[in-house]
Amino acid sequence: MSEMPNCIGCGATIQTENPKEVGYAPPASLEKDTVICQRCFRLKNYNEIQPVSLTDDDFLKILNGLGEQQGLIVKIVDIFDFNGSWLPGLHRFVGKNPVLLVANKVDLLPKSVKPKKVINWLKREARSLGLQPVDVMLVSAHKGIGMGEVVEAINKYREGKDVYVVGCTNVGKSTFINRIIKQATGEGNIITTSHFPGTTLDMIEIPLDDGSALYDTPGIINHHQMAHHIHSSELKTIMPKKEIKPKVYQQNEGQSLFIGALARFDFIKGDRSAFTIYAANDLPIHRTKLEKADLLYQEHKGELLAPPSKEFIDQLPELVSHEFAIKEGKTDVVISGLGWVTVQHPNVVVAAHAPKGVEVFIRPSLI
Ligand code: GDP
Repeated sequence: MSEMPNCIGCGATIQTENPKEVGYAPPASLEKDTVICQRCFRLKNYNEIQPVSLTDDDFLKILNGLGEQQGLIVKIVDIFDFNGSWLPGLHRFVGKNPVLLVANKVDLLPKSVKPKKVINWLKREARSLGLQPVDVMLVSAHKGIGMGEVVEAINKYREGKDVYVVGCTNVGKSTFINRIIKQATGEGNIITTSHFPGTTLDMIEIPLDDGSALYDTPGIINHHQMAHHIHSSELKTIMPKKEIKPKVYQQNEGQSLFIGALARFDFIKGDRSAFTIYAANDLPIHRTKLEKADLLYQEHKGELLAPPSKEFIDQLPELVSHEFAIKEGKTDVVISGLGWVTVQHPNVVVAAHAPKGVEVFIRPSLI
């Protein structure tokens, strides 16, 4: 194969295989004299950014670079996959720069969830993970909820300095930035790219009114995200698209619930209790006896228990059990990236089984 050309926009080596990675261009574009990657093409022609992902190494370089800049860091997380979308160690890299924490996809939470509780939970989590954000805000970049407030907050906290938006892939960072571009770019204002020292990728620079700029940094792939274990054709079934409708199950000790073949929830000990499942509306729930659950999974994963379907079930890591003795009623058992189960009664022992590497934890109910 002849050597691939470089993009005339950002300089990345052109590749024609993976649209989500740096330097992608459709194969037909290789026939032209000069090649521009799809990301730069869209930026140039539509003032619109596209998500790209980076290697861990390059991302670390960008993070390191951030500590040397002065400005506001806007960190975006997916409210539905908080732990999976957290960028561990960010606080060590940002130096003295303030961090505004923005939790996206608030439109997925049922209306009964209280925003104040969510914000308090996010603040506690952030602190326990070592980050002290100047503020925590909830948005839906997709629906445009809370965006005006975030833009106001950005302007307040940046104190005339630049803004750097960071987040891992799939949190909705591109959707977020594209919303801001629409609000921020008046006529004559064009988006450019600017080189960030030591990295292979230029950052997208969106001019702000006072000569400062907002920079979009590339997303990082977080290998713990549930989404990375699911084939893209099945992702839409497990990633909620609309407001979640809770499903309530009255359970006795010794019963199990399967969420597709992705997770299992055992009621090990305690009085009869209601368990409320919050996950994508289309995910099938299957109820069985705890003593039969192992065998059922072995014999029926990929078929009766799906997604993943038979074709992709082997890509899913084995399920690992996480046991919790729950003292307080109304406790959420959260499976990062999939959803959560609210245990309504106190004094129960439960076990949540999730694919190896996916985080499982408990928190006081958000409802
Ligand atoms: P990026 O990889 O972080 O740049 O993420 P994208 O902007 O490409 O979004 C990833 C996925 O999340 C897409 O399927 C979006 O449609 C979806 N998404 C983005 N923002 C929202 C939101 O506010 N609500 C919901 N429900 N989905 C969103």
